[in-house]
Amino acid sequence: MYCKKCKNLDTKVIDSRLVEDWTSIRRRRECEKCGHRFTTYEKMEFVKFIVIKSDWRKEIYDKEKLENSILNACNKRNIDFWKLESMISSLENSWGSNKTWITSKRIGKDILNALAKFDEVAYIRYASVYHNFETAKDFVDFINGEED
Ligand SMILES: [Zn+2]
Repeated sequence: MYCKKCKNLDTKVIDSRLVEDWTSIRRRRECEKCGHRFTTYEKMEFVKFIVIKSDWRKEIYDKEKLENSILNACNKRNIDFWKLESMISSLENSWGSNKTWITSKRIGKDILNALAKFDEVAYIRYASVYHNFETAKDFVDFINGEED
């Protein structure tokens, strides 16, 4: 993205937000050389769906971020990466099948259910991040099913 004023190629993004129809991103950019500010619109053809967070903020689904969080949970576990990858793909298909949006809560739950069958340790680690366990009691409550 080059500056239309001085043709400099180094511009930085000051602000990115979703356009109302959720199909493009509006970015405010600033030229690092002359300070000229301009707006660009980028179509999100690569986006499968929008994630709605618990505080109603909307986020573009980020596969890399999701993958990293799962890989963290699988750290040092002897897991089959390709199996994991196909697990993620089939989840993505179900999330994107009839809607253009999905809640982050649903994503978290689906991953937990899938991990439970995949690797017990990874499941517990992911659960501890997802449910924000702060004390050992939180964890025990979760295992005993007192928290959903
Ligand atoms: Zn410029």
